[in-house]
Amino acid sequence: MKRRLWNLIALTSLLVAIVAVTIWIRSHFRADVINIPTGQDSLGHSWIELISNEGVLYWSRGKNLRDIPQPQHPGGQWDWSSIPTIPTVRQEFRELAKFFHGSEIAGIAWFVDSLSPMQGGWRQTGWRLAIPDAWLLACSSVLPAAWVAQRMFRRRRRLKGICPQCGYDLRATPDRCPECGTQQIKIN
Ligand SMILES: [Zn+2]
Repeated sequence: MKRRLWNLIALTSLLVAIVAVTIWIRSHFRADVINIPTGQDSLGHSWIELISNEGVLYWSRGKNLRDIPQPQHPGGQWDWSSIPTIPTVRQEFRELAKFFHGSEIAGIAWFVDSLSPMQGGWRQTGWRLAIPDAWLLACSSVLPAAWVAQRMFRRRRRLKGICPQCGYDLRATPDRCPECGTQQIKIN
């Protein structure tokens, strides 16, 4: 049961890694912009925007204040658009991050934009985050790599005639480990 759960988690992480590679490669040819409205109250409506562009995933959470004309997606539906890559996104993010005294650690950058006069006349409140696709790939690869390493380690132990679970010498009892009780799978 425990092992099955671990297999499932490693597999899920592998799928995330495959998605990360796909997004990374794609982001050098097409930019993807996803807008998700997340609610409305007396102040205006809030949204999440995801932009995948040139190897970086930008995540913004914001709110358009009510007294300002809504620049996009007033209908309350989420939408996804695929457009040619936008070479200015990175620079714009950097400038805004500088303006709002943002932070950056190992390529992951974020800032809080409380009021944004640089947004072309409309205002928003919220925060933004930029994560390089390389980071997503690196993080999601750790578990699948550990899974493969564990498999190889166990296989080597089995071939050597020792219990893959606890390392006990199994030459006298090849079917079942007398130390930890693990049933042994034969490898020819
Ligand atoms: Zn054992």
